[in-house]
Amino acid sequence: MGRLSRAAAASFSAGDHDHGICVAEAMRDAERICARRGVRLTKLRSRVLELVWSSHAPIGAYGLLEQLRREWRRATPPTVYRALDFLLAQGLVHRIASLNAFVGCADPAAAHAGQFLICRDCGAAAELHDRRVNRAISRGAAEVGFVVEERTVEVSGICPACRAEEGAGSRAR
Ligand SMILES: [Zn+2]
Ligand SMILES: [Zn+2]
Ligand SMILES: [Zn+2]
Repeated sequence: MGRLSRAAAASFSAGDHDHGICVAEAMRDAERICARRGVRLTKLRSRVLELVWSSHAPIGAYGLLEQLRREWRRATPPTVYRALDFLLAQGLVHRIASLNAFVGCADPAAAHAGQFLICRDCGAAAELHDRRVNRAISRGAAEVGFVVEERTVEVSGICPACRAEEGAGSRAR
C-alpha cells in the first residue's frame, strides 16, 4: 500500500509544522539504526545528516559544504561526499538526481527506493513509498530485458502551499 509518512506530509505544510520534531526524530532514528547495524555515525556524518534535514527541500553538496565550513573550517568537497556516501548507503538520505541534491529519508529502517513529489516553486520534496510502483517498474523492465540500477522516481509539480499562494495571488489581482 502507498502511504505518506508523517514527515512527508509535514514537508508539504512547511510553514505550519514544528520542523524541530522532524529533525529530532530523524536524528534519533539514525542513531538507533547505525547502532543496530554496527556502523559509526561519526560527529561529522551526524552533522551532515542534520544539515540535510535543515529543511524538506533537497540540498546540494556545495550548499552542505558551505554550512559545514562554519564549524569545520577544513571541510572539503570530499569530506561532504564521503559523509553523503555513508548516509546514502545506510538509506538515511536519498539522492534526487534531477536536482543533484539530497534529502533526508523519514523511514530509513527498511531499504527502499522512494518516489518523490518535488515542488518546482519552493523545492519541497515529499516521499512516497508505494510498492506497486516498484513492482510495476520491475515487471516492465523484466519484460524488455532491462536491468534496473536506479529506481528513484522523481515527479515535479506544485505543492499545496504554493498552490494556495498562487490562488491567493490570483484573487488579489
Ligand atoms: Zn519538518
Ligand atoms: Zn526513503
Ligand atoms: Zn511549494
